[in-house]
Amino acid sequence: MSTENSSDQLFDNSVKILTDLIGFKTISGEDNSSLINYCDEILKKIGATSFKTFDDEKKRVNLFATLKAKNPSDKKPIILSGHTDVVPVSKGWSTDPFVATIKSNKLFGRGACDMKGFIACTLAFAPIYAKANLDRDIHFSYTFDEETACIGAPILIEELKKRGVKDGICIIGEPTNMKIIDAHKGCYEYTTYFEGLAGHSSAPHKGVSAVEYATRYVNKLIELREDLKKRAPKDSIFDPPHSTLSIGGIFGGIAHNVIADKCHVNWETRPVVKEDGVFLNSELDKYANEILLPDMKKVFPNSSIRKNIIGEVVGFDRDEKSNACELVSSLTGDNTREVVSFGTEAGLFQEIGISTVVCGPGSIEQAHKIDEFIILDELKKCLNLLDGIKAKSILN
Ligand SMILES: [Zn+2]
Repeated sequence: MSTENSSDQLFDNSVKILTDLIGFKTISGEDNSSLINYCDEILKKIGATSFKTFDDEKKRVNLFATLKAKNPSDKKPIILSGHTDVVPVSKGWSTDPFVATIKSNKLFGRGACDMKGFIACTLAFAPIYAKANLDRDIHFSYTFDEETACIGAPILIEELKKRGVKDGICIIGEPTNMKIIDAHKGCYEYTTYFEGLAGHSSAPHKGVSAVEYATRYVNKLIELREDLKKRAPKDSIFDPPHSTLSIGGIFGGIAHNVIADKCHVNWETRPVVKEDGVFLNSELDKYANEILLPDMKKVFPNSSIRKNIIGEVVGFDRDEKSNACELVSSLTGDNTREVVSFGTEAGLFQEIGISTVVCGPGSIEQAHKIDEFIILDELKKCLNLLDGIKAKSILN
């Protein structure tokens, strides 16, 4: 950004790209291939190489594109990462959620801050990287279905492992108002299904009440929740400091006088350490399979308890010597480190040894809401960060 003029152009271009991105209705679970192709074309035109990874139906796509170093050095590659899906829209928007609308200093649209704003900045900046004498690789990682329990990213991560990409610095541009987020809890969601035997309520011993077994299961969960509190790490950085557990719903039964043959329980846990998730699941499964199920089968051998994993988003752990955090700090001057209560793909990159930070334009306050917007100044701040990355990625 050498002159005022070129930085204006860069900003205008990021707004234009953001406008295009919002126009793609990439609600989680739906086909995002047009958006991915749009991104791929921009990056290919400037000389990036890329590969795609897909879901089983080849409907949803991750893109990973690379601008190779012209003067390779021992600097770690940088990954700029964002998810392409957005949450569904509910009624009540003042503008069309899929048409970017600028009013005073804000740009409205679904995904404006979470997180097409970041993706737009990276695409707008990419041609500048392409022209620079890069001494490290710069990667662009755009995933699908983050909002529904990070379904896309693990598929990409598997491919990165195969290709030997397991070192580097990753910036995940979730909306943090460009603040540095270096940790969050995991988020594991489950539905457990109980199937027993229906019957007349006057003879409870002849049926197997799915509702009653589900209740005992829920009680066990609440008991284990107390154990999780006791397991809180002494130096925990989270609030509350321990892993949490919550029952979201119990559904079963049809009438007062009918033994319910079906019931299911929605529940989730947010582990502060991975071991808590392992502990909880093994204790719970043991209780279900060794205590509840044999009891149910005494009356009805076909009884079942089935735990369905909705998603297990791994936590993102604080690393006191994080290369990623240090890089961003050195560019923004912000030395603070914060934790957040929302989940991201950060833990997945971290798990394969990539130093990761969550930092991006816009506020989480506006994410997932009616009239989602991004303050245009946030895009400028993000472009400044990308410019700083350029300065740190060329031979001096
Ligand atoms: Zn997000």
